[in-house]
Amino acid sequence: MKHIPRKRFGQNFLTDGGIIDSIVQAIHPQPGQPMVEIGPGLMALTQPLVERLGKLTVIELDRDLAVRLRLRPELDVVESDVLKVDFRAIAQRLGVPKLRVAGNLPYNISSPILFHLLEQVDVVQDQHFMLQKEVIDRMVARPATSDYGRLTVMLQWRYAMENVLFVPPESFDPPPKVDSAVVRMVPREQPAQLNPKLLEEMVQVAFSQRRKILRNTLGKWLEQKGFAGDFDLQRRAEEVPVAEYEALAAHFS
Ligand code: SAM
Repeated sequence: MKHIPRKRFGQNFLTDGGIIDSIVQAIHPQPGQPMVEIGPGLMALTQPLVERLGKLTVIELDRDLAVRLRLRPELDVVESDVLKVDFRAIAQRLGVPKLRVAGNLPYNISSPILFHLLEQVDVVQDQHFMLQKEVIDRMVARPATSDYGRLTVMLQWRYAMENVLFVPPESFDPPPKVDSAVVRMVPREQPAQLNPKLLEEMVQVAFSQRRKILRNTLGKWLEQKGFAGDFDLQRRAEEVPVAEYEALAAHFS
């Protein structure tokens, strides 16, 4: 029976065979690697992935799609909202220290998914995600650009990231209203030791008025914390490199 795409689940199904091949090549799955796919949908990526891996864990919220996925014995189906999934428990159940994670994500909840995984990054080997291109531009942004912001700092602190593929709307059914891209995210081996909640708070304050210099935003916050160190507050939030935000957060953590 034909599945009617559900907008509330962000269902835009990949149909372009060339793009599917390119994504699978970028992921480079090898037999036996433990991988979790978020949002397998109608299996456009699932099929080529599981052919190479042998087994694959998939997380799907749509009950009708989960029913179809369960017909495939090589798939380990978790029918759930990915935002409630404990990836550490999956790694433990599979008996592995780390998981590879991939998926063409539902765009309406892409940032919450990125932050949910950030909290469990200790069990992540790498992540390959299709997202709105505009979100990936923000993730991989360099300082002093309009894309550089909270998402950039919060993710670059913990991952090395690169945009690996542009994907136009006509590669999907139905086509989304935006351009898409695929990002590779590899957790840093030696991230700065800091309290992520504190980094988040600091970055939120710094970027709250991104056109202004930091004296009245981050400056006030640092004053409240009794900071006595050296930090140039004559800059705007977007001019401060990630490493400086990390160093500041590490100072208070
Ligand atoms: N992987 C398929 C493809 O590339 O054609 C489908 C991608 S579609 C953009 C997103 C998929 O995520 C859909 O299958 C949708 O049902 C599923 N999904 C949506 N929200 C979800 C959630 N909160 N948790 C798990 N899966 C979800």
